[in-house]
Amino acid sequence: MDTKTSQSHIFFFPYMSHSHIIPVIDMAKLFASKGIKTTIVSTPHNLSLFSKTIERSKLSGFEIGVLSIKFPAVEVGLPEGCESAHLVQGYEDLQKFLKATAMLEQPLEKLIKEHRPNCLVADIYFPWTTDLAARFGIPRLVFHGTNFISQSVSHHLMRMDLNEVSDSEPLVIPNLPHEFKIPGNQIPDFMKQESELKRFGQSAAESETKSFGVIVNSFYEIEPAYADHYRNVLGIKAWHIGPTFLCHKEIEDKAQRGLENSINGHECQKWLDFKKPNSVIYVSFGSIVKFEDAQLIEIALGLEASGQHFIWVVKKDQKSDHESNEGWLPEGFEKRIEGRGLVIRGWAPQLQILEHVAVGGFVTHCGWNSTLEAVAAGVPMVTWPAFADQFYNEKLVTQILGIGVGVGVSSWGRFGGERVKNGAIEKVVKQIMVGEEAEGMRSRAKKLGEAARNSVKEGGSSYKDLNRLIDELGIHTKIATLE
Ligand code: UDP
Repeated sequence: MDTKTSQSHIFFFPYMSHSHIIPVIDMAKLFASKGIKTTIVSTPHNLSLFSKTIERSKLSGFEIGVLSIKFPAVEVGLPEGCESAHLVQGYEDLQKFLKATAMLEQPLEKLIKEHRPNCLVADIYFPWTTDLAARFGIPRLVFHGTNFISQSVSHHLMRMDLNEVSDSEPLVIPNLPHEFKIPGNQIPDFMKQESELKRFGQSAAESETKSFGVIVNSFYEIEPAYADHYRNVLGIKAWHIGPTFLCHKEIEDKAQRGLENSINGHECQKWLDFKKPNSVIYVSFGSIVKFEDAQLIEIALGLEASGQHFIWVVKKDQKSDHESNEGWLPEGFEKRIEGRGLVIRGWAPQLQILEHVAVGGFVTHCGWNSTLEAVAAGVPMVTWPAFADQFYNEKLVTQILGIGVGVGVSSWGRFGGERVKNGAIEKVVKQIMVGEEAEGMRSRAKKLGEAARNSVKEGGSSYKDLNRLIDELGIHTKIATLE
């Protein structure tokens, strides 16, 4: 046996979904900047989608390795290539998808045996990784992709008896730092009775308790009461190390983070450069929410009537040359808004857009990444949640932080809950951009943005927590034993 000092090595194993992979790549870059070797383990399709982002990290001097494992989609009855959560429709397919992820245990085990990492950061969706890591004597850290407030609510929900919950009566979650009432229709049916998905959630929570702890992409100052609650009341070991995307310093790194953009980053920057500070509202609903065409038409009409400049990202294919109109846009819309509005079909360089001085508001579905990106950029929000933790993030933004206004939806649905009419959209867009409270919200948002940026600087809360985590893992000074 030969004992040598070697560079510490962390494996990152994100859930196969854009909004989990993107922050994990940021995180890998962050750890790489601390002199730690980092490797992302994922499936061929997902690795190819994000290859540019990973390549860019190399260019900025932080090499991130990749290791690929085959996703058994067909083996569980999913179509070939169904390797990403956004392609999964309905609970039945979700169960198949989760079954396929559990089949990744053996190939991951093989990679760990071969590469002997010092630590495994694995998504909450892979409960079996705590025991796998333990078999190799290495710590497993859990990554949820969300924040302390949502994780706290979820933990309480998991411990409550939800059999009697009705759609008409809101459910009160006791013992949280703020009053939390959740309408019954925001609790998915699978949580209200014994089900495979509920059992899966319970096993994930159990594996979290047995793990080394939880890494949270958040910063203390945005949710101090919930960071304390999670650690001190729920008793979960956790480190906040975000916002992790602030590790990107160059504009090109920000522009090329995520999937391939449907618009050239320079073109987008140029369009914004011509606008006054805080005069543009950015409208985007993440990677999963897909509105019906009738809702898209209402959004178009609302934005047009608001009189505000806007960038609107729609998850649709590019218009072909011979197409004069598309069903989801009102007749002649793009001609009428020319110069004032920009419609991006597909993927936008969101981080770059939000950080531009011209952007003064964000209509968002409140996915945690989008919310945190807006907070760090000091941009107030119109909140339009659709499902999962998005409703809790809305509460954080509108009721706790006072940096947003709700569009007024309450029901749960991946394709959007109730339809919002153009008049309501026009009203909230004006409210956030030029309404009586706009200045107050903007100044609170800017202060919070400053706190976010300070948290990752030397001496800041996230900077210190990251160092504390590295110390506790003992990976910086570890003497690796090589056989
Ligand atoms: N995103 C992007 N361009 C787009 C759509 C999304 O860069 O056109 C990024 C966004 O910046 C965020 C992530 O994709 O980092 C979406 O994650 P979020 O948690 O907000 O929402 P989800 O996709 O889970 O609904």
